[in-house]
Order: sequence, then structure tokens, then C-alpha cells
Amino acid sequence: MQGDRFDLAVVGAGLNGSLLALAAGEAGLDTVLVDRVPLRSLTEAGFDGRTTAIAYTSQRLFAALDIWPEVADKAEPILDIRISDAGHDGRPSPLFLHFDHREAASETDGGGAAPMGWIVENRFLRAALLRRLVSCPHVELVAPDEVVETKRDPSRAELVLKSGRQLTARLVASAEGRFGAMREEAGIGARAWSYDQIAIVLVARHERPHRGVAQEKFLPGGPFAILPMRDSESGEHRSSIVWSEGADLARRLLELDAPRFQAEFQRRFGDYLGKVEPVGPRWWYPLGLVHAERYVDTRLVLVGDAAHGIHPIAGQGYNLGVRDIAALVEVLVESKRLGLDVGAADTLERYAQWRRADNFAMVAATDLLNRLFSNDIKPIRLARDIGLAAVHRVPPLRRFFVRHAMGLVGDLPKLIRGERP
Ligand SMILES: Cc1cc2nc3c(=O)[nH]c(=O)nc-3n(C[C@H](O)[C@H](O)[C@H](O)COP(=O)(O)OP(=O)(O)OC[C@H]3O[C@@H](n4cnc5c(N)ncnc54)[C@H](O)[C@@H]3O)c2cc1C
Repeated sequence: MQGDRFDLAVVGAGLNGSLLALAAGEAGLDTVLVDRVPLRSLTEAGFDGRTTAIAYTSQRLFAALDIWPEVADKAEPILDIRISDAGHDGRPSPLFLHFDHREAASETDGGGAAPMGWIVENRFLRAALLRRLVSCPHVELVAPDEVVETKRDPSRAELVLKSGRQLTARLVASAEGRFGAMREEAGIGARAWSYDQIAIVLVARHERPHRGVAQEKFLPGGPFAILPMRDSESGEHRSSIVWSEGADLARRLLELDAPRFQAEFQRRFGDYLGKVEPVGPRWWYPLGLVHAERYVDTRLVLVGDAAHGIHPIAGQGYNLGVRDIAALVEVLVESKRLGLDVGAADTLERYAQWRRADNFAMVAATDLLNRLFSNDIKPIRLARDIGLAAVHRVPPLRRFFVRHAMGLVGDLPKLIRGERP
């Protein structure tokens, strides 16, 4: 088969696929990025109403790839995180857990008290990635088009697109998201289940400033996260809300008229920031877990949600993908520099080994947290409140969690340390 030849073909231009294509292209790997959706439409305000908590170490990667300057003025630092448990009335328990960004100061660049992370609207991240991709000489963008057939053998991979175009690459990366077809086609199984929860996502404006504090309230239906956003251009104080509820109730809430929705929302949000009110559309995302049994197959690698889709309870799903990308690009670049085949099985196995433990730990932790907190069973509630308060009182334990939230744990790839591979 004749076709265009690349080192890497990335399928899926979501936050992970776009970042992978850019990081690979910047490192000199000839890369093609395919998505079935026109890329400009991915950046429109109506496409994705979410914000993403970019962890401290993910930000270092964004800076190393010169993406950060494109979003820095739209990113709000997360200085502290306050976690509390609350019953059906939305009133928090007096036992709580508070994380302060200064806890991990000794491990950040320059030893200063860096933020734990930043909240950025997804549309701004997508637009910044696209701007950098169009100017990267090693990346070709193919969209809208769709992979309809993949043929992989020990010497190469071939992709047949809906348009009829054929691409040949040494390696295919599936960044197709949690319902990616390639994982299944490759016979890679997955642990997968639904949480029977839906995340309602919206922006709220409030009277008082949030002062960089992210709040997570564990309500019986699921976590209610209040994430600090930049003030609007007109100076309104704003937060991004990720409100997880049982699926049936969430569907009913989404259909409520504005005054009744406001009442339900206010009851959960509370009044600590004064008068509060949802603005703009209500978005919704069904929640579940998917974790692939393997991340690699012959000339195929899974990254981001195609490998592991988790509950947003800790705001870490994309951060795992960012670390996948940093590790994958590092092993591919080393292989190319040595004149080796970037799609060879041992190169891919190094990636899989590198990423397995970190991903597995976060998949398990988020699953456990959601099960432990999304209920109102009295003895469990008491035990978890005592647990929160205990962690709050033990500085080394608090530091342990802060370091994980910032991504400062484990064998960090170069990009995650802020260096180019
Ligand atoms: C409510 C919510 C809040 C979240 N908050 C956070 C947070 O604060 N911090 C954090 O780190 N993470 C967060 N996450 C997780 C994060 O949003 C995801 O991990 C991330 O968006 C997944 O991106 P992706 O590129 O892997 O997949 P996707 O966004 O699903 O992109 C897949 C792309 O592949 C394309 N595609 C698929 N198949 C094909 C094909 N055959 N041919 C061509 N194109 C194809 C699709 O069109 C799509 O554009 C949150 C998730 C949710 C649901």
C-alpha cells in the first residue's frame, strides 16, 4: 500500500492527542494528527464547558513546550484546597481537611511556594494547543477525517481514513478517549464500570473573591467541587463547578427552571462567598471508570483517556495523560536518536512499564474515594470525617497528599521536570 509515511500517527485531537502530537513534533518526530471533528470547532465556547485543574508538574511541561505563555493570563492559581463532608442539607461537618500550597515548597523549582495547580478553561487549552500545532513544521493536521481501518504488523502500521487517504506510520497512538475503537480492535481488555453518576458542570459568579481556594464538599450524591476561576472581564468573581450527583437526580436537576435550579445549587454551594448564581449553560458528563489491561500492542500505544478514564473527584484525569505523553515522547526520542525503530516492541514496553504504577494508583484512589464519600451511611460518614480531621492534623500526611496532587511523586519524565527530552 502506498501512503504518507510518519514516525507517529496520533488518532484523536482532544487535550491528550493534541498535546502528544505537539510534544512529538517539537522533538523532531514526523507526526500526523487525525480527528473526525474540525479542529477549530474543538476550541469554540460551545464545545466543552469544563475547566481543567492543571497540576504543578503538568504546568512545567506546558512551559517547557512554550504552551504556557498562551494560557498564563487565563489561568487561576490554586493556592489551597479545603475538603469537607456534608449531609443532605449541604451543611459541612465541622471536621475538615485543608491543604496549603506552602506544604511542598521545598520541592518546587527555586524552593518557593508555588501554586498546587491552575484552573484553566478547556477551550483556552484547546485553542493554545491548536495555535502551537499549526506552526509546528513536523506535525500535519488531518481533520475532519476519521480512521476507519487500521492494519498493523511487526514492520509498520497503516491507517485508512474515511476520505480514502492512507497513512503509514511506525507507530499509532490511540488518543481516542475512553470509548476508543482501537483498544477493542486490538483485543485489549479493560476494567470498566459506570458510577451511575452524572457531573453537572457550570460557571457560577459570586459576591466575594475565592482567594485561590478550591473547595470540595462530599455530598451524599457525590462530590461538589468549587474551583477558582479568573475574574470575568467585567470583574465578576467566578468559580467553575463540578457537581456530581446520582444519574436520575442529576437528569431531573438539569431540567429544572432557573429559580428552582438556583435553589438546589445554592443549598449545596452555601453562602461562604456571599450571593452566588449560576451563569451560562449547564453541561453534563456521565461518569465511569475505564482502565485498559495493557497500554501497548504491535505498533499501537494507548494514551490519556483511551488508556484510563477516571472520576473527576480529584481533578487528575488529564494530568495522568500529560504524564503518559511526557514518558512516551521521552522513550520515542531516545529510540530515534539511537537510530532505532520508534515503534519497536521494547520501546513501547518501556513506556507501558513507566506509566502503569502511577496510573493504577490514581485509578484505584479515585475509585475508592468516590465509593467512600458518595453515600450518607452514618458509621461510614463518621469514620471518614475522623479520617479527614486526622490527616488535617498530621503534617507529613498532608504533605504526602499535596505532593501527589502536584504530581511530584515517582520517576518523573524530563518534560514533567520542565526540560525538553
Ligand atoms: C466533568 C469533568 C471534569 C474534569 N476535570 C478535570 C480536571 O480538573 N483535571 C484533570 O486533570 N482532568 C479532568 N477531567 C478529565 C479530562 O477532561 C480528560 O482526561 C480529558 O479531557 C481526556 O482527553 P482525551 O484527549 O484523552 O480524550 P477526548 O477528549 O475524549 O478526545 C478524543 C478525541 O478523539 C477523536 N476520535 C476518537 N476516535 C476517532 C477516530 N476513529 N478517528 C478520528 N478521531 C477520533 C474524538 O473526536 C475526540 O476529539 C475531567 C473530566 C470530566 C468529565
